[in-house]
Amino acid sequence: MGKLSAMLLVSILVFSLGITEATGLGSMDFLNPDRETWEEKKENINKRLEKHLEEKEEKEEIIEYQVKSGDSISSIARENGIKPATILHNNKIENKHLIKPGQKLIFPTVDGFIYTVDDCVELEEIAESYNIDKDSIVKVNILESEKLEVGTKLILPDVTPSYTQLASRGGERATLTWPVTGAITSSYGYRMHPIRNVKSFHRGIDIGAKRGTPILAAASGEVVYSGYRSSYGNTVILKHGESFTLYAHAHKLKVEEGQWVEKGEVIATVGATGMATGPHLHFEVRIDENSADRTVDPKNFLP
Ligand SMILES: [Zn+2]
Repeated sequence: MGKLSAMLLVSILVFSLGITEATGLGSMDFLNPDRETWEEKKENINKRLEKHLEEKEEKEEIIEYQVKSGDSISSIARENGIKPATILHNNKIENKHLIKPGQKLIFPTVDGFIYTVDDCVELEEIAESYNIDKDSIVKVNILESEKLEVGTKLILPDVTPSYTQLASRGGERATLTWPVTGAITSSYGYRMHPIRNVKSFHRGIDIGAKRGTPILAAASGEVVYSGYRSSYGNTVILKHGESFTLYAHAHKLKVEEGQWVEKGEVIATVGATGMATGPHLHFEVRIDENSADRTVDPKNFLP
């Protein structure tokens, strides 16, 4: 194995950061975010990381494992010293009883989320979108360079399912309904901005629909914002427990702040207000009402 592939596949040191099972996805609080603040969280991760690096003598690896008869997720996890959730999440397995002999599993030898670089993103951008420290990615993966090639597998510390693409894969099914039926014209994540023409992070998904199409509440909740926000245009924000959904570029707003809406109720109509190239719904799922940097991919919560 060459040095590069060895670096990519083998010398991937990870740190156990508690990928928890997404069992708390109730209809009200579908994201079930941690009680820790982001700063506390980062601090704790760094502490645990330091401790782990001190204690760990061997290099960690990403293992490709073939299921043998008699294996269970729990037994494989136990043998490798990781949590069952780490295997479930990294293999998109929803039901832990559904593994069969011969099936291939991929997982790190310590708890963590395996991220495959699928675009020319910078390490900084990955760290930012998963809200983790860039340095901890460098450390746990023993990266010699911050330049990442497409296909590179990284283990991301402190990535709990709530904040990853894995959010709906932990056992519970999606808990949101589609606010508008239509094709996704722009996905969540890095893209070339259609108007500014620079690479930027798209914090939601765009769903194409005709002007005037009713926008439905993706989950029951309280209207915490209904008004105009510069580039978002006419916008509604709903609060569901500790999480939020945001609906932008609306033509007309149909709800008022303080109002309670049921899942599926009309809250606005599709438009192109704010910075939009044409009528569509820009739909976000937020962990923090006022922070556009605390978003997750809405698709993880949609059926
Ligand atoms: Zn958008």
